[in-house]
Amino acid sequence: MLVIGLTGGIGSGKSTVSALLAAKGAVVVDADAIVRDVQQPGTPVFDAMVERFGPGIVAGDGALDRAAVAEVVFNDAQALADLNAIVHPAVGAEIVRRMEQLADTDEVVVLDVPLLVESKNAYPVAGLLVVDVDPELAIRRLVEHRGMSEGDVRARMARQASRDERLARADHVIDNSGTLDDLRAQVDVAWDWIENLKAPSRDR
Ligand code: ATP
Repeated sequence: MLVIGLTGGIGSGKSTVSALLAAKGAVVVDADAIVRDVQQPGTPVFDAMVERFGPGIVAGDGALDRAAVAEVVFNDAQALADLNAIVHPAVGAEIVRRMEQLADTDEVVVLDVPLLVESKNAYPVAGLLVVDVDPELAIRRLVEHRGMSEGDVRARMARQASRDERLARADHVIDNSGTLDDLRAQVDVAWDWIENLKAPSRDR
């Protein structure tokens, strides 16, 4: 397997890029989806969260009320640290489990981890792909297409690595400042870059 890290700021276009890479044949390991999986009702993570934050984080249907959780940790650094201490180990273990299953295959595995730069070298990758966009454009897209509030997006951005920090770590950059067609062309170039990373092992 060849592991490629995929990251980018909030609203940069990571999901769109990972779908395009999946269409090219990559296996996408989506950290956000794993977070949702490990927080299903009845899991140890769900139970630990309810024990720490109280029944107010459970919605009427018994599932996690994500907005309520976000509210609790929004301005409370200790609560956020506690939440991460509950959730991150389970997510990390699940990512490792999936990687082990793929280890002996020829797959290109795209690790879509929003905080990959922040979490330093937690997962060894052959290359880091960064989706880059002007944060103001990302804010406009999230407000227009997702109905998020501008203040909420800015607050989340403030907790993430900066655009420059991400670019400094990037091995290849996808510029998502254009149209979706432009983005497709950028993903074609990125796929060529990935194929080239594979080449040395093919020659051996
Ligand atoms: P998040 O950080 O919230 O997970 P993300 O980085 O995965 O977001 P996407 O969901 O792929 O980003 O994109 C954010 C929004 O911007 C989506 O509504 C998406 O459809 C839109 N979008 C992405 N790229 C473009 C583009 N090139 N042109 C117009 N809209 C775009």
